[in-house]
Amino acid sequence: MAILVQKFGGSSVADVDKLRHVARIAADTKESGKQVVVVVSAMGKTTDGLVAMASELCPNPQDKTTAREYDALLATGEQVTTALLALTLNAMGYPAIGLSGGQAGIITEALHNRARILEINTDAITNHLNNGNIVVVTGFQGCDANGNVTTLGRGGSDTSAVALANALNAERCDIYTDVDGVYSTDPRIVPHAVRLNKVAYIEMLELARVGAKVLHPRSVETARQADMPLTVRSTFTPEDPGTMITGIDALELDRSITGIACDKHQAQLAIEAVPDKPGVAATVFGTMATANISVDMIIQSMNRQVDNVATNDIAFTVSGNDVHAAKDTLSELCKAIDAQAVHADTDVAKVSIVGAGMIDRPGIAATMFEALADADINIKMIATSEIKISCLVPQTQADKAVQALHAAFFPEAELGSKMTSDNVLVNEKLGY
Ligand code: ASP
Ligand code: MG
Repeated sequence: MAILVQKFGGSSVADVDKLRHVARIAADTKESGKQVVVVVSAMGKTTDGLVAMASELCPNPQDKTTAREYDALLATGEQVTTALLALTLNAMGYPAIGLSGGQAGIITEALHNRARILEINTDAITNHLNNGNIVVVTGFQGCDANGNVTTLGRGGSDTSAVALANALNAERCDIYTDVDGVYSTDPRIVPHAVRLNKVAYIEMLELARVGAKVLHPRSVETARQADMPLTVRSTFTPEDPGTMITGIDALELDRSITGIACDKHQAQLAIEAVPDKPGVAATVFGTMATANISVDMIIQSMNRQVDNVATNDIAFTVSGNDVHAAKDTLSELCKAIDAQAVHADTDVAKVSIVGAGMIDRPGIAATMFEALADADINIKMIATSEIKISCLVPQTQADKAVQALHAAFFPEAELGSKMTSDNVLVNEKLGY
């Protein structure tokens, strides 16, 4: 019998009524002749609440000495949902059994707060399924080889679901959430953003990395490895097929770009007048790596003379979380490499266009830069990959940049939007 894995996020299981609704979806799927594994997140904002309590009682709960206890705490959110959902299903007449990550055979690295799944022993789940149960599994967690509870990193329940789907050879993994699919951009910024029927794994990975929050990036990578079909769909309109995430072969690349994402949590660091000699970039970025800081966009400017010495300026971006550590580390390094000064700018945002359709299609970058220029937005940095172009822009202009890019790359959506008065208002405000 085919197995379906269904994952429900925190907002889908936030209260008892929603749990009853989720139980109905799982029960209906079982009635349709499938074996059903349900993976759940913690209810609503439970995990945030647990984080806040731990932080009040312990200054740095993620620290090595307390990371084990912190994981044990965070994992309880999903355990509550799992038990409640299994209770609900049983009360509705559908035999169900709840399993923690460890009980479900999910073995992870012996690393807390961001463990990776090493293997899944599916015997327990398979037995329970074959005995006619709906199996409910806690998302976000597993256990290490010594039986310690570990968690997979915030948002990790998506990854639990996909990893289980892979291990069980499921027919599909459905991620139920509070939106009905993946959109061309954030509908809060562009109200007439279009829903995408299909997105390639690599596109979704890039979109997730550059700021689209709908799926945990590791879950997409996990699905890609096994070619596991993944859907993103709404808990509240479960009959709607949502967005399918698949291999690139299954796509018709009739669109130049697939989506536009924006990450406002970025910072730009610049080192001024670095002596122009071999090994300097290696030292700068080697130091960042040792400090465990990931670097994203990098620019080295043209050579200029400062006090008769040939120098370069080097600028790069880091996540907003890392800006203080990066600035401190660089300021120290500044003296050692004889550079003049270090500047940090947090008033920046990274706006990216993503799409496998841009491969072998000239002019996409030009269209992007023109759209930003027409909107009078200054580009501070540019970075590209085969299927992505990112521009760093002033943070205050980020939404305007996304809107301008959407207008340029999704003109039909713009036309459609003129029909609804709300959007006309938005468009007029923006001067379209
Ligand atoms: N409950 C966890 C979190 O809030 C995991 C998840 O929901 O995916 O991060
Ligand atoms: Mg989530």
